[in-house]
Amino acid sequence: MPETFDVIIIGAGPGGYVCAIRAAQLGLKVACVEKRATLGGTCLNVGCIPSKALLNSSEHFDEANHKLADHGVIVGQVSLDLARMQARKAEVVAANVKGVEFLFKKNKVTWLKGAGRIAAAGVVEVDGTAHTAKHIVIATGSESIPLPGVEVDETRIVTSTGGLELSVVPKHLVVIGGGYIGLELGSVWRRLGAEVTVVEFLDRLVPGMDMEVGKTFERMLGKQGIKMKLKTKVTGAKMHAQGVTLTVEPAAGGAAETIDADIVLVAIGRRAHTEALGLADIGVALDERGRVITDAHYATNIPGIHAIGDAIVGPMLAHKAEEEGVALAEILAGQHGHVNYGAIPGVVYTWPEVASIGETEEQLKARGALYNVGKFPFTANGRARAMGDMDGFVKILADKTTDRVLGAHIIGPDAGTLIAEIAIAMEFGASAEDIARTCHAHPTLNEAVKEAALAVGGRALHI
Ligand SMILES: Cc1cc2nc3c(=O)[nH]c(=O)nc-3n(C[C@H](O)[C@H](O)[C@H](O)COP(=O)(O)OP(=O)(O)OC[C@H]3O[C@@H](n4cnc5c(N)ncnc54)[C@H](O)[C@@H]3O)c2cc1C
Repeated sequence: MPETFDVIIIGAGPGGYVCAIRAAQLGLKVACVEKRATLGGTCLNVGCIPSKALLNSSEHFDEANHKLADHGVIVGQVSLDLARMQARKAEVVAANVKGVEFLFKKNKVTWLKGAGRIAAAGVVEVDGTAHTAKHIVIATGSESIPLPGVEVDETRIVTSTGGLELSVVPKHLVVIGGGYIGLELGSVWRRLGAEVTVVEFLDRLVPGMDMEVGKTFERMLGKQGIKMKLKTKVTGAKMHAQGVTLTVEPAAGGAAETIDADIVLVAIGRRAHTEALGLADIGVALDERGRVITDAHYATNIPGIHAIGDAIVGPMLAHKAEEEGVALAEILAGQHGHVNYGAIPGVVYTWPEVASIGETEEQLKARGALYNVGKFPFTANGRARAMGDMDGFVKILADKTTDRVLGAHIIGPDAGTLIAEIAIAMEFGASAEDIARTCHAHPTLNEAVKEAALAVGGRALHI
């Protein structure tokens, strides 16, 4: 006899599995449906974690080739064991997904293995067996957006999933799409020796990123040998024995040309993945991009059915999904869960890293806000110099009248870690002066954050 639960969550990615754990902590009887052979969703299996494993490994390779000698560390001939690098990545993924399984057991979350379908409010069918629950949570995540005329076979024309699995370093990798996923994977294969060309429809990389940071980022990637073809659209792909020939033309229209690649990575974005859930049959409303429409409490238009993570509106980021998972679990348990969408950091894990939070300068200008800017370069930071990683800067934007921090944009070493300090400041409604007057350990990269905060008031000390 199938069990009855307080909550059944469909999808065990960072949104779903975190929601399950938090709901169980709050005393609810929870099941999580997952069709993949392992828990953890896109993030742990084919997203954040494997990409960061390869980014780290390829960084070490790059350091050994280009940076260690400057530190007086001579390693002789450096060679690549790609099979070992890929095996290590698989070990990292395996340990992480097992970790989630352990957490499910520890918190008494039932894993319903198989594909879930919502038969009606309160009823989830898993591979044909009906399970009932007071609340259903859709946490089915997202999938790569296909590009018409460029058919993915995950061997020669790959999505990020195939792009993480290559067993040979491509001679020429063409990345279609200048978003963070394409740039991270492009960086991995560039460091390992591939020629990399990024083709982007827009006139800039990572749309939405602060323009000044974006332009600096483009220059730095260019210096690393990544070629950019901006304002260019891909119109077709032909596979042949040697690889793939792409046809491209200017985004605004004009003469077509071809680019030969041995691997093409399609990374033009991701879309909500809700098909096969039966949402149309039960009348759950979707928006024009196929995302589940929810209110501020993650409730859909059908009572008892909720949705979180990549399947709903907002940045497609693991930590955004996790925060929503926690907030929804707390709401379902009668508490007041809440996510502050104004303080969600976004990080590109290239080297240097790029991290941002809050509003960009362009957004502030567009809404006519009056603001001060404080900037501090890593060239003037003692720790960055000691590390030999001085590219980039910290930029803090603060309200002209109140000095409240409105946004921060960092390009430089460990930017993704540095941004956490600003996230906490913004959560507490801090002013730039609050950050500036906080004692920062010396010598740390975080001192560049303090100095940028001082610079907001025109009183940086070390420049
Ligand atoms: C290459 C890559 C790198 C990334 N790097 C980062 C990063 O560094 N930082 C970051 O924040 N984000 C990153 N992301 C994005 C991040 O992975 C997603 O934002 C995050 O996984 C979304 O979580 P989710 O829980 O909403 O969905 P997902 O993680 O997509 O999980 C959804 C789960 O639902 C399951 N499912 C779907 N339908 C059903 C069904 N009917 N029945 C049962 N199970 C079902 C799927 O199998 C999947 O396991 C990356 C993504 C990619 C592709």
